[in-house]
This record gives sequence, C-alpha cells and structure tokens, in this order.
Amino acid sequence: MAATPQNPATAPVRRKVSRHRGEGQWALGHFTPLNGNEQVKKDDDGLNVRTRIETIYSKTGFDGIDPNDLRGRMRWWGLYTQRRPGIDGGKTAVLEPEELDDSYFMMRVRIDGGALTTRQLRVIGEISQEFARGTADITDRQNIQYHWIRIEDVPEIWNRLESVGLSTVTACGDTPRVMIGSPVAGIAEDEIIDATPALEEMKRRVLGNKAYSNLPRKFKTAISGSPLLDVVHEINDVAFVGVRHPEHGPGFDVWVGGGLSTNPKLGVRLGAWVPLEEVADVYEGVLSIFRDYGYRRLRNRARLKFLVADWGAEKFRQVLEDEYLKRKLVDGPAPEQPVDRWRDHIGVHRQKDGRYYIGFAPRVGRVDGTTLTKIADLAEAHGSGRLRTTVEQKMIVLDVEESRVDSLVEGLEALDLQVRPSPFRRGTMACTGIEYCKLAIVETKQRGSSLIEELERRLPDFDEPLTINLNGCPNACARIQVADIGLKGQLVMNDKGEQVEGFQVHLGGALGLRPGFGRKVRGLKVTSEELPDYVERVLRRYLAEREEGER
Ligand code: SF4
Repeated sequence: MAATPQNPATAPVRRKVSRHRGEGQWALGHFTPLNGNEQVKKDDDGLNVRTRIETIYSKTGFDGIDPNDLRGRMRWWGLYTQRRPGIDGGKTAVLEPEELDDSYFMMRVRIDGGALTTRQLRVIGEISQEFARGTADITDRQNIQYHWIRIEDVPEIWNRLESVGLSTVTACGDTPRVMIGSPVAGIAEDEIIDATPALEEMKRRVLGNKAYSNLPRKFKTAISGSPLLDVVHEINDVAFVGVRHPEHGPGFDVWVGGGLSTNPKLGVRLGAWVPLEEVADVYEGVLSIFRDYGYRRLRNRARLKFLVADWGAEKFRQVLEDEYLKRKLVDGPAPEQPVDRWRDHIGVHRQKDGRYYIGFAPRVGRVDGTTLTKIADLAEAHGSGRLRTTVEQKMIVLDVEESRVDSLVEGLEALDLQVRPSPFRRGTMACTGIEYCKLAIVETKQRGSSLIEELERRLPDFDEPLTINLNGCPNACARIQVADIGLKGQLVMNDKGEQVEGFQVHLGGALGLRPGFGRKVRGLKVTSEELPDYVERVLRRYLAEREEGER
C-alpha cells in the first residue's frame, strides 16, 4: 500500500498547488505552517525531544527547558506540565500558560489494548511510589497516568518502563495515541474475533515512526472483536469493530471520524469489511489520509472528524482505496447492537478456556502505586500474571481457575476494589480535573468519589445500568456527551449570587445501544455542592416515570 512518509519540506506535491492557503492540507501542496503549533512541528520532529531530555534537560532541570519543547514537543513522549497548586478555576482562562505551569509533569504510560503483565504492573507501581508521590490514575483510554514527575527522573523512569516493554512514546501530542483494544481480547467466550495480532501489527508499524509523528492533531484508534462493543468505537478517529461477514466469516467493520470535545461527532461506517491480516494496511491508509489531507490551518478544525464530515464516507473510502490501498475493499455488514448496556466486563465471567476473568472497580480510576503493587501480587497468586485496563477506568484479572475465584474476589474487595460494585461506583468516571490539569475549572476526582458514596447511601436499591461522567472543563476527556448524566465543569452562581464550582448538565447520552449525544438542558447548571441532591432527584424521577425499556 502507498503510505508514503511525508514531510512538509521534502514531500512531493501531489496536486496542483492552489493559489489559496486553504486548510493547510499537505496533499494539496500547502506546506507553509499556518499556526504556531504547525511551525513548532516543522522546526523539529516531536520525537527528537527525547534526546534533549536525556542529555540536557534532565541535567539542567525544569528551568533549562526550551519553551517550545516544554509546551509542545514533550507531549510526543507523554509529558505535560501539571497545574501549579492553589490556582482556582476562575484563573484558568485569564492567566498565561506559563503562569499555570508547575515545575512537575504529568506522565502518561500507554497501555495499548489495556494489556499488562503483573511484572509490568509492579514496575508501574514502583515508579509511582519512587518518582510520582504514589499517584497513578487509570484513564478512560486504558492508560496509566502519573503526576509529580520531575524532569530529572524521566530518563530513569523510561529505563524502567522499557525494561518491561512499556513506553510513553506518542502517548500525547499530534500523533497516533494509545490504541484501545477489547480488554477481553482472546479470552471472552462470546468473542467474534481476536484482534490482538492486528493491534500488535499496527503498533509495530506506527510507534516511534517519523512517517506518522507530525499529524494535524491527535489520532485515536480502537479495535475490538467483542460483541459488547467495548472500546467506544463511535468516538475514535478510526475504529475496527468485529463482525461476521455472511461469505467471508469474522473480520472487522471500519469506522472513521468520531470524536468528542467541541463539535462532537460519532464516527461513520465506511461500509467495508476487512479481514484480520489487512487491518494494519487499512489503519495505515486512514492515518496517512489524515496526515496528508487533514486540516492544519485551525487547531479546532484539525481532527479527522472535520475532514470526514466534509468528504462523507463514500469519498473517504474512495480516496482510501484509490490512493492508498490501490485496491477495492469488500462491502460488509454493520455490527449488531449489543445485548447488554454494561460493556465494562466488571464481575466474574467464564473465559473460552474454562477459566475466569474478574473485572473490578476502583473509584473513578483513582488508584496508587501501593495498591497497584498489591493488585499485581493478587493477580500473580490467583491467575497467570495477565491483567487488563478498561475504557471505564476499571481493571480485569485474567486466567483464574474456578477454585481460586472467591479468594481473589475477597482479596480485591479488601483493597476496596469491588467486583460487585453499585451502579454508581461502576458507572461513574471523572477526568483529572483541577488537582493537576491546567485547563480545569473545577475539581472532579474527589467530587465523583463523594457523589458515589452519597448516591449509594441515598438510593441503595437502584440497580439500573447508569453512566455519570464528570469533566473539569468544556473538553471531553471523561466523555460527558455520551453519558446518561454528563457533567461539564464550569463556574456557576450559587443562591447567594457567588461564583462557585459547578457543572452544566447533559442528559441522556449513550454509546452502544442507540448511541447519541446527551441533551444540554438550557440553563441547567448545578453547583458542586448541590450535585448529590440534583442527581438523586433526576434518578428518583426516572424510577417513577420511566417507560418499559427506557434508559
Ligand atoms: Fe483537563 Fe478538561 Fe480534560 Fe478534565 S476534561 S482532564 S479538566 S482538559
């Protein structure tokens, strides 16, 4: 296939150069950087910052870091500066970025497919305790995120991670980010197809490859052969969803152009069926279209979803086939709707080999280094040493013999990692929030955790599947638009006319069964303090007035 590495300085012009600057699409000959981010990327590849971190910045310390590396290229290796403590949400928009910067970093470790071994988890836990003040959050894209990282320690952290096959490469930045995979790939009894070989091949071709290290913006990938549709495929730039073709058998349905944040869009189907061994070709083709045709003029129009919205699925597929794959794709069926609204694999489930996997719920993804080390011990004592993270900020231990299930459940629950959580613990997610995130306006993790406790106390018999997602700002890191109750952090007025932390409410969003965005109820805002009262009222009204089958 024609996945020609392109560089604005050297790439051949493939089209007649338009007299207008257009959207900054390389494939149309527009190589002049049209904004500061594009200029920084052109000046030096983001991947090159690693050498400077290892040889210069880890010795000079924070103050020696070039600002273009600090706020730009560091992301190519999973590093963001974290928010300086003590700056309230009201100052988020009015201060300059450097005034918000702490001299510590957030570091994201990519866990493609959520697949971990106990050895890896133990190293993650040790790094947390030694270099990250014990912090470790499970993100809703299966990553692990540290805080309080010093630049001086980064080379040693990389050494330790890489010694067990983990990496922070392109965990952030305008790059192919972590590839989400079904956390029960290869083991679930009901699996349509095991996507693991395709995911491994995609990683092999792309990670650290400079052909794909200057994209217009971030590029999110998901792949799953589970009928539960467990990888939020609808909101990724590219997704491969397991289907059975009536003639060709199991393979994948291809989706492109999904994404949340501003202008949220659900991905669209290309109507193409792809066998396991061709997934990586199609992936590289879609990634190359994004690199070559993606819009680079405005950052807020640079995600693939805007190109897909302008082209439509038909043209996108045609360009993919004609210019990149040089062959036609096979038409294929859409995935069937999942039968279950929970897609998180929480609880005890039989594997196809007769053993069991056990999914458990920390609170809003918050764990810590000591707990992760204890989870590794438990998983090793009860399973084969394999674990997974999920896109709901949860974890799973694989390969447990039936006779060992009860003992593992007991061990996990003793760590407050529940295998049979309430719907509130199970369905509530929170982004990083004001504790560490420079864009945040409100606190989220602690708020989410106390909301769970309150709801468990007030509505002990509630047993419907439910998602409550809290964001600390108008971005969409915790997927508020697709939650039953989505809470977007902002400053609101309380009864006394004071500006306080609160949320705008979105109701009725969903993925999977009948996907769609929640409705923003005009003017419906709630202070953080009133949140439990508000959610309780919504749920009691829902219980009293719902119709048969209504979510
Ligand atoms: Fe930060 Fe906003 Fe993302 Fe939350 S949603 S992690 S506050 S950018």
